[in-house]
Amino acid sequence: MTATAMRTHRCGALRSEHCGARVRLGGWVHRRRDLGGLVFFDLRDRDGLVQVAFGPDWTPPEVLERAGTVFAESVVLLDGSVVARPADQLNPDLPTGDVEVRATSLEVVGPAPATLPIPVWRTKGEPLPSEELRLQYRHLDLRRPEIQRNLILRHRLLQRARATLSDLGFLEIETPILTKPTPEGARDYLVPSRLHRNRFYALPQSPQIYKQLLMISGFDRYFQIARCFRDEDLRHDRQPEFTQIDLEASFVRPDDVHAAVEAVLGALWDEAGMPVTAPFPRLRYGEAMERFGTDKPDLRFGFELSDLSDVVRGRGFRIFEEALAQGGRVRGIRVPGGAAISRKDVDGLTTLAKGAGAGGLATLKRQGDQLTGPLSKLDGATAELFMLRDGDLLLAAAGHDATTSAALDTVRRALITRLDPTPAAAHAFVWIVDFPLFERDPQTGAPVFAHHPFTAPHEDDLDRFMAGESDGVRAHHYDVVYNGYELGSGSIRITDQRVQMRIFQALGMSEADARHRFGFLLDALAGGAPPHGGFAIGFDRVVMLLAGVPNIREVIAFPKTTAARALFEGAPTTVNEEELAALGIQMRP
Ligand code: ASP
Repeated sequence: MTATAMRTHRCGALRSEHCGARVRLGGWVHRRRDLGGLVFFDLRDRDGLVQVAFGPDWTPPEVLERAGTVFAESVVLLDGSVVARPADQLNPDLPTGDVEVRATSLEVVGPAPATLPIPVWRTKGEPLPSEELRLQYRHLDLRRPEIQRNLILRHRLLQRARATLSDLGFLEIETPILTKPTPEGARDYLVPSRLHRNRFYALPQSPQIYKQLLMISGFDRYFQIARCFRDEDLRHDRQPEFTQIDLEASFVRPDDVHAAVEAVLGALWDEAGMPVTAPFPRLRYGEAMERFGTDKPDLRFGFELSDLSDVVRGRGFRIFEEALAQGGRVRGIRVPGGAAISRKDVDGLTTLAKGAGAGGLATLKRQGDQLTGPLSKLDGATAELFMLRDGDLLLAAAGHDATTSAALDTVRRALITRLDPTPAAAHAFVWIVDFPLFERDPQTGAPVFAHHPFTAPHEDDLDRFMAGESDGVRAHHYDVVYNGYELGSGSIRITDQRVQMRIFQALGMSEADARHRFGFLLDALAGGAPPHGGFAIGFDRVVMLLAGVPNIREVIAFPKTTAARALFEGAPTTVNEEELAALGIQMRP
């Protein structure tokens, strides 16, 4: 540091080895305490807190007086010397807790008022202000050491991801934000063009098409820390703009993409101090749905689903007979030790199952040789028939697979939360593979793409697909799931423009419409495309999990609310008539 430097040290960096040093510090007054003629500051900067003491023996009187009038969160510059704290005043909870700075000067360069809309310092255990206030006064909320720690971790993870991919030969290439719609299953954010009346740009839902074009152009391996925009209805843990670690590679099979993704995730978990082992196990989509009722199973726990249809058939239980007659199944979860779950909690599980679409849950409890619950009334019901051990509980739902899967997945997750069983592993990564190419829209029954329309059909199912079938056609689409959270998705892409056109048609687009929307991609595919595939990791969620915080807003500097509003700067907002007129836009009343 030069003699003219505004500060010589960071507050949080001072240690015993600095004792005797003259220092000049700059920072925020985290907290001020006045104690019998002495004034103490906890002075804070990004690196942490240090105790600063003002006292009559070393501080000039006017400085001591000024120190007593400074409000918390003011920004100050001060000179002082570092001294060791007396043995009875050491603070083992603070990295700087062996020392304090005895101040000789004080300049209040950024005074704060006596009260702020939200506090930064809180007493231990005092709850945080409401999230609404925290987002409204984000500049203050962001001063909290916890949230600074989250954003510093985010920075480190970003650098690690960049370095890992760059070392693997991936090139970081930026793609446009003002673009044409890129379907990923959400609505687009549209941006009106002033220069071209009645024309709109769309913000990218992902860089999908661009990264494919980069492969067609021969860049071989691309990545980007990409901001994506999706106008979705309110979802608890989604943001309208979010960050993905997006990658694409040429001349690859799924295994090659998986290896690159495992390298990145392995590096990120390592950066957070949690080494994990790759390769991750694989589970076919169909098996995941059968065993767990979801394509995002938390594999740290058991409670697997089983098919009870053959067990219950013809035993006089009307609801089951009806469900079976309509082509449904009866599926259930055996809960070891679950007989101890209270009736109230079982009712709570039933409410959850109903909320997920099931008619209800039928239960069977075994305590000693006694069976209780509605299923005990089935003709010939025995513990052996249902494979129940002493103390077990069986929870069963009837209906079409879509219903029983959703209901039993919800029940399984609730069981995990409530019973808090010992996990089989701390980190359960799994690849979900062999997704169907299309899903049915639950409302309309029309085929909708399970991933996005650039995903290649499985080669074994390609002929059937080209012949017009869509049911049961598998895709080269894979997701990575961690402890029940989907961390990202990817696929091998279509490189044959005829197959691509056929997909667009299967989604209900006419040839003309498909050409209007995606002609540039179809032409590019026709001009020499290498086999390629890729992936995108949802970065916000990864940081959330590694920071151990409950939602992604804790790891984003300026997040939107769940209602997609920016409370700090106030967006979305109205614009004036003149601006609208320049865009050729007229407001509807
Ligand atoms: N574009 C996809 C997504 O955002 C990821 C991929 O297929 O690579 O989900």
